[in-house]
Order: sequence, then C-alpha cells, then structure tokens
Amino acid sequence: MLIVQKYGGTSVRSVERIKAVAQRIAKTARVHSVIVVVSAMGKTTDALLKLANEISPDPCRREIDMLLSTGEQVSIALMSMALQELGVPAISLTGAQVGIVTEAEHSRARILHIQTERIEEHLRLGQVIVVAGFQGISQTRHQEITTLGRGGSDTSAVALAAALQAERCEIYTDVPGILTTDPRIVPKAQLMSAITCDEMLELASLGAKVLHPRAVEIARNYGMPLVVLSSWSDAPGTRIVSTIPKRPALQDLELTKSVDAIEYDTNQAGISLLRVPDRPGVAAKLFSGIAVQNIDVDLIIQSIHESETNDIAFTVRKDVWKQAAAVADAILPTLGKNSDPSLGEPEVQTEERTIAKVSLVGAGMIGRPRVATKMFETLAAAGVNIVMISTSEVKVSCVVDAEDCEKAVNSLCQAFDVDVADIYSSSTAFESEEVTPPVRGVALDLKQARLAVRQVPDRPGMAAKIFGLLAQQNISIDMIIQSQRCHSVNGVLTRDIAFTVSQPEGETAYQTLANAAVEFGWGEVILESAIAKVSVVGSGMIDHPGVAAQMFEALAASQINILMIATSEIKISCVVEEENGVKALQAIHKAFGLSGNEVVKVPA
Ligand code: ADP
Ligand code: ASP
Ligand code: MG
Repeated sequence: MLIVQKYGGTSVRSVERIKAVAQRIAKTARVHSVIVVVSAMGKTTDALLKLANEISPDPCRREIDMLLSTGEQVSIALMSMALQELGVPAISLTGAQVGIVTEAEHSRARILHIQTERIEEHLRLGQVIVVAGFQGISQTRHQEITTLGRGGSDTSAVALAAALQAERCEIYTDVPGILTTDPRIVPKAQLMSAITCDEMLELASLGAKVLHPRAVEIARNYGMPLVVLSSWSDAPGTRIVSTIPKRPALQDLELTKSVDAIEYDTNQAGISLLRVPDRPGVAAKLFSGIAVQNIDVDLIIQSIHESETNDIAFTVRKDVWKQAAAVADAILPTLGKNSDPSLGEPEVQTEERTIAKVSLVGAGMIGRPRVATKMFETLAAAGVNIVMISTSEVKVSCVVDAEDCEKAVNSLCQAFDVDVADIYSSSTAFESEEVTPPVRGVALDLKQARLAVRQVPDRPGMAAKIFGLLAQQNISIDMIIQSQRCHSVNGVLTRDIAFTVSQPEGETAYQTLANAAVEFGWGEVILESAIAKVSVVGSGMIDHPGVAAQMFEALAASQINILMIATSEIKISCVVEEENGVKALQAIHKAFGLSGNEVVKVPA
C-alpha cells in the first residue's frame, strides 16, 4: 500500500525537526511504501525572496523560480540523509528528476502530468522517495525549472498521490488539522474531524492558508483521500471528504475541466434597497428582520458605497417574496434619513421582477479567471444582460431576467460542453454522526485589494469586457458586485462594477482597466488596498435562514462597517476596513459559537 506524506516548512524547520520527522516516516515505511514531499526549511522561501528584492523590486519570474526551488533542494537532501541514518533506504529527487511536468508559466505553473517510471523503479527497490515540493519542470525545449505558487507543496503531494494512485495523501503541518479558523488569531479555534472538499475549497481560496486550494481541487477531482494532521502528535487530524470519486485521465492533471455542470433556478425573486445609509448595523437590521420571519435568503450583495449611501440587493424564493418585501418596507423608515438631502432618500425597489439564477458548478473557478469570463462572454453573445453576479471557488452564478433563462442555460451548456445538473440531487453534505452546524469555518484574507469601475454602460457584454481584459493577464477575481443603482450619463444608463483581486495584482489590474476606461467610455477606476475580506463557509447554510443576519449582527455589535457583501451558496463574504479585519474575524467566530475549550498550541 502506497502512502504520500507531505511535511511543511515548520515541520522541517531545524535539524532536530528533520530527525523527528524521519522517525515518523521510518515507522510508516516499515509497513507501507512511502513517498515523502517536503517544503523548504522554516521561512527559507521568504528569506530567499527577500534577497531577490534587495537586488530588484520586480525580479524576473524565471530567476525567482530558479532561486526559490533551491529551498526545497536543501530539505530533501537532509531528510534523505536523516532516513538513511535510521537505516531506512531513501533517495531524494527534485521536481525535475521525478518528472513533475508543468506549464511554462513561472511562479504559478500548473502540473500537466507526472512521469512515474523513475519513482516506480525506486519504490520497487524498497526506497523511501523524498521529493522536493512546490517545483516542476516545463515541457518546453529548454526544460525550465518552474514553481507552483506559494504554498504549492501541498499540490505537489496530492498530484503525486493521484498520479501513483496512492491509498491516501497525508499533509503534516504545525496545527492539529483543519480548525474553525486560524488559531493564531483565535487560539480556541476548534478542530474538525472532517470537512467536505467544497467547504475546504472555499475556505482555502478565502484565505485559510492551511491547504493550497489547488491541492484540494486535485483531491476532489481524483477522489484522493486527503488528511491534514500535526507532525508533532499522533492525533488523527481532519479528513477532507470528496463526494464525487471520479478518476479522470492523468494527462493534463491540473487542466481538467473546471466546470462540471450548469444549474439554474427559476424560483427566485429579487429585492433591492437603494441609498441606505453607509454605517454599521444597517445590513444587520434588514436581515435580522428577514430571519425573524424564517425566510431563507439566497444571494446577497452590497455594492461599494456612493457618497455615504449603499445599495443592498438580495434574492429569495418566489413564494416568500411578498413577505420579504414587506419586511424591507417596514425597516426602511427606521434607517433614518440621509444626512445630505441631495443624495435622495432610501428606497425599496419593489417591482416584482421575475429573475432566474444560472450557475456554473465545479471547482477551482477563482483560480481560473478565464472560466467566469467565458461565462460572461457566452451570455453577452446570447444577448443576455446580467443583473447580479456571484462568484466562488465552486460556483459562478449570474442572475438574469427569467425570460432569458433558457437561452442562457443552452448557450452555457454548449460553451462549456456540459449538461444541466439536477440541483435537487447535488447535495454537498456528507454523512457524519456529528450534527454539522450551518457555519463550519471562518477565514480572513488581508491580502486583497478592491477595484471599482464607475459608470459602466448597463448592457450585455460589459462584464465580459472588463473581466476578459483581466483574464488575459491571468488575474483572479472574487466578489464581483454590480451596483443596483443606475446613473444616466449622456443618456446612457450606467452602473458601477466592483470586485476584489489579490493585492500584488491590484496595480496591474488598475492600469489595465484605467487604460481601457478611456477607450470604452467608462468612468473613474478606483483601487483600494487597505481592506480585509472576512468570510464564513458551510454547506449547512443552504436552506438555513438567519446565517447572514447573524454574521452582520456580529459586525454591527463590534461597530464594524461593512463595505461590500457578496454571498454564494456555501459562503458569505464581507469586505471591511483592513484595520477591522482581525476584530471582525474574532467577533464572527464567537457569534457562531465555534470556539472549543482548549487553546490550540501552534509551535512558535
Ligand atoms: P506548512 O508550512 O505546514 O505548509 P502553513 O503555514 O502553510 O503550514 O499552514 C498552516 C497554518 O495555516 C497554521 O499554522 C495556521 O496559522 C494557518 N491556518 C489558517 N487557517 C487555518 C485553519 N482554518 N485551520 C488550521 N490552520 C489554519
Ligand atoms: N516553500 C514554498 C512556500 O513557502 C512551498 C510550500 O511551503 O508549500 O511557499
Ligand atoms: Mg503550506
């Protein structure tokens, strides 16, 4: 039986730790065949990057890969020596020697396939193979050294496990497993014994760096049993459960189709509140009112503020639309008037617009910006206008006019070469003796920036244009929000579009859009980096009213203003000011009662 074990930086940060880990590997190697993947020792990768930045503020990505890949080469050699010292036959191999073949894209290469012949040869000799994580070799004529992106050793490990059809992949780290949040921010975060792949994908892409999202994606796509556990103890850790054990071909391992199916839901109705005051507590008041009526809210979006006022829009099932609209109407007068009368008064948009939600279902959507763009382009080509957008790692949804639904679904099925999913059978929950709460985990991402494009003409094709330009630069987008309010600019109806990107890509995204704004007649482009994104994730929040209200109430009670809201089926994200990020995470974690009784010890 073959087992792949991966040890992260902290787990191999010193010679003592390497020796301790070697003991652990030796124990497993007595009964199983073992492949070990290791990261660079401690904070080596950061230290190497710092050296590079002392030479150049923007070093060439090829040279960065050349530099960073040395970190793992040190740890594999030492680990192999430590194993040999214990009498365990072992050999270290770099990514290139193993034959981890990747795209030629430096610093974020995806794995194409793994040439398993050499590994199999060493396995037959009874050796433990110690593989350098995070690195590969390009298929191009010059066989360039590539890296997979920060945290990518997890991905190397799961890819090896999939390619060699291992029994399971074990990720050893410095915490006991997947916790309800980062124990460095909430020391009493609680360990989960299991979590679904979809939940883990969302958490990982929303900032929980305990697992690389691409590792979870491979585990999901190949049905590879994945466990996260501590390299300091023998506790069982957390199982990442995949519901769809498929076994796609091992060629183009990380280029597999990210869209599994198209879903649609015509049983939706929307409500918008325009020009509500931009201060803490407004969303909390609205959604608590709705939760009291036991109404399940589906999508919620709050766009960027416009001169001290916000718009909040949400969708509910058609049969409860009247009830939800009545709550919104009743709450409106309690929100007070806007301080500046020229802004106009708050208003509930109650015209009953028949809408439908059309979604792409799959994995790895955020990490593949071309997927959402292709959706927007396909809808534009079919002449379908997009009313609302919701993005997440496992789903991209567009709300469209109900009469456009069939056209939208057909064109998307064709464009992505997939079928329509039966939404009532695609349950993401898993069987467990534990009662799973609606919210399983909370994540904080302090490395995001917010971009907004003002006054984009409200017609099909505009989202496709904006996100197409960014996809060309391979920039991943999250939390796309179109304002509900329309402005007439020279007789053309326009809306603002806002979204978040990772901070290092903020400037490029800004330049790209600012250049295009002139050409396409958009308004101002705004970049804001001092933001934090805090998110709750859980499959149980589907059909569980009141989760959003509880999150917004926790923020309001801490006097934290919400700058943006975006939800998807199993996550709710809020953008707040950067300085409020940690406080927001702690307040939300507490509000959902996620803390345990014990403090999680994280090795310094
Ligand atoms: P490794 O070096 O082993 O790859 P990482 O530093 O990449 O380890 O990931 C482990 C860290 O992830 C933990 O020390 C913890 O601070 C952080 N983390 C963030 N969110 C979570 C979470 N939900 N559960 C567990 N750890 C988390
Ligand atoms: N050493 C790499 C990093 O620090 C890869 C990894 O640890 O997974 O990002
Ligand atoms: Mg890691």
